[in-house]
Amino acid sequence: MTTPESNTSSKSSVKKPRKVIPIVSDPNQEEFVSLYESEQKIYPRSTSGFFTNWRWITVWITQIVFYGMPWLQWGERQALLLDISTHRFYIFGLVLYPQDLIFLVVLLIIAALALFLFTAVAGRLWCGFACPQTVYTKIFLWIEHKVEGDRAARIRLDTGKFGIKKVYKKTLKHALWIAFSMWTGFTFLGYFTPIRTLFDNIHLLQLGPWETFWIVFYGFATYGNAGFLREQVCKYMCPYARFQSVMFDQDTLIVTYDEERGEPRSGRSRAVDAKEKGLGDCIDCSFCVQVCPVGIDIRNGLQYECISCGLCIDACDSIMDKMGYEPGLIRFSTQNGTSKHWSKHEIIQRILRPRVLVYTGVLLFLCAAFAITLGMRSPFKVDINRDRGVMSRLVPGGNVENVYRLQLTNATEKTQAYRISVSGLKGLTVASKKEFLVNAAESRSVSVSLQILDGSIKSGSHTIYFDVSQEGSDEKVSEKSIFFMSR
Ligand code: SF4
Ligand code: SF4
Repeated sequence: MTTPESNTSSKSSVKKPRKVIPIVSDPNQEEFVSLYESEQKIYPRSTSGFFTNWRWITVWITQIVFYGMPWLQWGERQALLLDISTHRFYIFGLVLYPQDLIFLVVLLIIAALALFLFTAVAGRLWCGFACPQTVYTKIFLWIEHKVEGDRAARIRLDTGKFGIKKVYKKTLKHALWIAFSMWTGFTFLGYFTPIRTLFDNIHLLQLGPWETFWIVFYGFATYGNAGFLREQVCKYMCPYARFQSVMFDQDTLIVTYDEERGEPRSGRSRAVDAKEKGLGDCIDCSFCVQVCPVGIDIRNGLQYECISCGLCIDACDSIMDKMGYEPGLIRFSTQNGTSKHWSKHEIIQRILRPRVLVYTGVLLFLCAAFAITLGMRSPFKVDINRDRGVMSRLVPGGNVENVYRLQLTNATEKTQAYRISVSGLKGLTVASKKEFLVNAAESRSVSVSLQILDGSIKSGSHTIYFDVSQEGSDEKVSEKSIFFMSR
């Protein structure tokens, strides 16, 4: 009889020879797999149609505003100037100081909320039609098209041999791109430093090192982004592209391919009766893919790369027209609209859904608060600092004196006279000069001394108010401070 133990020991004592499998790869089957995939250059084909025209209209509007605005005058000065060196922002009739930074912050919040609202309703229309990256890419592509030709010619030129024609076309294209980029850099700087002076400095070759740096920096950023990176900025660098999907819902307008109508896709001639053959309306011509500036196939469904430019709609509509089919195989619609076969009217009705109403309400509230606060903004400001060297001192005449520094800021476009008085303590008077002139859009620091009869108040700190009024108007500013009476 054998026990389990004795059985095991007898098994372990009989060792089988080990089979050794060598880990040597077969050189004939070796394959190098790179985890890096280089971007394929996209050669968008030209198209025409409703959305193409609208894209050009928005390019013109945005560029006329961008290049024209710094040249606009408001009285004696530039209408829009963000003068960082003097800490003044001139926005038409408005002069903002560092203390007014809150207005800029609110303005940015309003812009962000407007973008949320716009995205919830109309998807990425901003990206396709007004975003600077898209707009400059379109302008650069137009230059490329004019110099090198349309898609097929550009592919031929890039894959063809090096020769005089290729060198000439490439040099001309890059020269035009660089010239346009430098003009863009110059205009950009013109928002921060007076553009007319900047223009004269360029003519007189008197451009400072920082001015030169910013023009070249912004110029080359434009050249690089619009000439080379193009759709990669939208795909990999733009944060909006990443989080815009959370603002989408089933009723957001997007560019959609009507799969039900288009499939099964197949090439055919005009003479073929698609219904009879059981074919969908898509003739698989790939025109919609060739015109796409981000190089995607919208027939694969909604993709985060799609910037809603509508060019594939124009391309497909032109094909539908040639085939004698209804336009709109690719169209702006909503996911609900497509799946539930809604009419345009039904899709538009869904715009006013709760989410959109909440965004609109918050946006309107912020806009109203911004306008009211801006309207109530005082045309001058007063900041008070006690003179730290002189807490309180006894002066001839039996008075006790405290000295203050008042920073008077004139936020108007004219020289103003300000009158200073004081309240809060009986017998307290302004012993120094009471009236001061401050030039337009300037700040002035003035010294003011206050006196009171020694012994007329208890020792310690007393709350007082500086009342500063602007001459010739009812504007008045009251600022709290402390009068210190020593023991
Ligand atoms: S899929 Fe159509 S709408 Fe989207 S980016 Fe491409 S061309 Fe523009
Ligand atoms: S352009 Fe229209 S017909 Fe041609 S492949 Fe695209 S969806 Fe199909």
